[in-house]
Amino acid sequence: MAVNWMLRLANRLVRTALMLLWPLAWSALAMPVVQPGNGAQDAIAHAHLLEDPTAALTLAQAQQAFAQGKFTSTADSKDALALGFTRSAFWLRLELSNATPEAARQMLEVVNARISYVTLYAPGPDGRYVETATGSDMPFATRAHENRHFVFPLQVPAQTSLTLYVRAQSTIGLILPVRLWAHADFEHHERHDYMVQAMYFGVALAMALFNLMLLVALRDRAYALYVCFVAFSVLAVGQKTGMASEFLWPQHLTWTNPNYYMATSWGLLCFMAFMRSMLGTAQHLPRIDLGLRAGMVLHALMPVLYWTVVQSVARFTIWLFVVSCVLLLGVVAWCIFRRMRAAYFFGGAFAVLMAGSLMTLLRALGILPTNVLTVDGLQAGSTLEMLLLAFALADRFIQMRREKLKAQRDLVLAKQKLVETLQASERELAQRVDDRTSELQALNEKLEALSMVDGLTGIANRRQFDQELHKAWARLERLGQPLALVMLDVDLFKRYNDHYGHQAGDECLRKVAQAMASVGRATDVVARYGGEEFVMVAPASDGPSALLLAQRACQAVQALGEAHAQSPFGVVTVSCGAASVVPGVGVTPQDLLRLADAALYQAKARGRNQAVLADS
Ligand code: GH3
Ligand code: MG
Ligand code: MG
Repeated sequence: MAVNWMLRLANRLVRTALMLLWPLAWSALAMPVVQPGNGAQDAIAHAHLLEDPTAALTLAQAQQAFAQGKFTSTADSKDALALGFTRSAFWLRLELSNATPEAARQMLEVVNARISYVTLYAPGPDGRYVETATGSDMPFATRAHENRHFVFPLQVPAQTSLTLYVRAQSTIGLILPVRLWAHADFEHHERHDYMVQAMYFGVALAMALFNLMLLVALRDRAYALYVCFVAFSVLAVGQKTGMASEFLWPQHLTWTNPNYYMATSWGLLCFMAFMRSMLGTAQHLPRIDLGLRAGMVLHALMPVLYWTVVQSVARFTIWLFVVSCVLLLGVVAWCIFRRMRAAYFFGGAFAVLMAGSLMTLLRALGILPTNVLTVDGLQAGSTLEMLLLAFALADRFIQMRREKLKAQRDLVLAKQKLVETLQASERELAQRVDDRTSELQALNEKLEALSMVDGLTGIANRRQFDQELHKAWARLERLGQPLALVMLDVDLFKRYNDHYGHQAGDECLRKVAQAMASVGRATDVVARYGGEEFVMVAPASDGPSALLLAQRACQAVQALGEAHAQSPFGVVTVSCGAASVVPGVGVTPQDLLRLADAALYQAKARGRNQAVLADS
C-alpha cells in the first residue's frame, strides 16, 4: 500500500516537474501564452530583432538569418522598442509556447497606430506561414482584427509552440511596443480603451460645437481660432491614436504621418493665433509677437515638406514642435509675470497639454517608456487644455461685458454731465439776460426820472411841470374846479452870485427848492421853471388859497435864514406871483402862467419878499 502510494506520488512529482520544465526545453526565451486574468504581457522581453537596411528581405531570408544567429535578443529593451528615425525594415521573431492541455486564444497587439507597414507571419494549421499585411498607410480593411492598433488574433494549440515573425517599417520614427493578451482580457481592455477614446472625442466635439455656436452668436474672431485649434487637435490626436484611420477614412490609403504632422502644425498655428488674440501680444509684446508671427508662417508652410519629404524632416519636425511649445510656454510665463489675466488660463492649459504631449514626444524619442501616461497622456492633456481654454474664452466674455457695461455707464454719466452743464449755462444765460433786463429797466427808469427831474435841485423840471400842468388842467376842466399857480423868483440873486460865488448860488437854490417843497400839499407840484425861478401848481385852489400858498412859500424861504449881504432883508428871500383860474373854454394854461408872471412882476415892483395875487 505504502509503496504504491509512494510510486504514485513520485510519478506525479516527475510529471509536474516535466510540465514545469517543458517550456525551457523549447527555448530559454520562448514566451508562455498568457492566461486570462493576467492582462497584457510585454512580448519584446521574449523576442529577437533583426534590422534589414535594404527593407527587401523575405520571410525565408529572415528565417535563414535567424539560423545564422544574426538576430539579437530584445530581452534587455524595456517595454517598447524605440528604433529611432530609420528607413530600415525590422524583423521581430517571437516564440509562443502553450504548455497547457488546451488551445490558447491569444491577441498580439502592436501598440502604435502610426507604423506605416506591419506584417505578421504566423504558421497556419498546416504548419505553413501565413502572411497578414497591414499598416497605417494601408486601408483599414487589411486589419486582421478591427482595432485602432494593429492586433492579430492567434490560436496556439495545446502543448505546442508557435514561432512568429513581425515585420515593421515606418516612414518616420519607429517605436515597436508589442504586447500579448489572452483573448478574453483583450476584449475587456478593448471596450475600456474605446470608451476612453470616445470620451475624449466627445468632449472635443462638444467644445468645438459649443464654441462654434458662440462664434455665430458673438462674432468674435477668438472663438473661430479656438474652434480651428480644437479641430486640428482632434485631427492630430485622431491620427496618433489610429481613430481617424478607423472612423474617418477607413477605405483609403491613410497617410497617417503626413496627416498627423500637418494637423499638429496647423493646430499650433491656430493656437499661436488664438494666443496672440487672447493675450494681445501685438500690443503688449511687439517683439515677441513678431517671433510668433514668423512661427505661424513656418507652421503654415510645413505641410508642404510633410507631403514631399516627410522622412527627411520627421526628426526636425519633432524638435520644431518642442521648440515651438517651449517658446509659447515662455510667452505665457512672461504674460503671467506681467499679471495678464488670460495668461493664467493659458498657463494652466499649456501646462497640462505640455505635460501630455511632452511625454508623448519623449516617448517618441525613446527617452520615456511606454505606459498609460505616455500613451493616453496626450488625450488627457488635450482634454484639460480645451476645457481651460474654453474657460479663458468665457472669462474674456465676462471681462468684455464688464468693460462694455462700464463704458455704457461712463457714457451715461458723461451725457448727464453734459446735460447738466448745458442746463447750468442756460440758467446762467437766462439769469444774465434777466439781470441785464432789470438793469436796463432801472436805467430806463432812471433816465425817465432824470428827464423829469431837475439835476441841480432834485425837484421836478420844466418838462414835468408842463406835463403836470396840462394833466391837472384837463382834470380840473372836467371837474369845473379852479387851478392855482404860484411863480417864484429869488430876489437879487445876481448879486448873491456875485458876492458868494456861483457854487454857493447853486447850494442856495437847492435849499430854496426844498423849502418850497415842504410848503405845499401832497398833490401840489413844485418845479424849477428855469434859472432861479420856480413854480408851484396847486389843483383845486382858488385865488385866496393860491395867495396863502405863495405867502407861506415866501415865509418858508425867509425862514431858511440864508445870509444875503447884498439884500436889504439880510437873508435870501423870494417874490411870488399867484394866480388861479377855472379851466374852461377861452382860457389856456398860458393865460394862467402869464397872470402869475404878471403878479410876480408886481411883487418885485412892490419891494420884493412878498406875494401878489393876480387880478383875474
Ligand atoms: P431880481 O430881484 O430883480 O430878480 O434881481 P435878480 O438879480 O435876481 O435879477 P435876475 O432875476 O435878472 O437875475 C437872475 C440871476 O440869477 C442871473 C444869474 O446870475 C442867476 N442865475 C440864474 N440861474 C442860476 C443858476 O442856476 N445858478 C446860479 N448860481 N445862479 C443862477
Ligand atoms: Mg429872474
Ligand atoms: Mg431874481
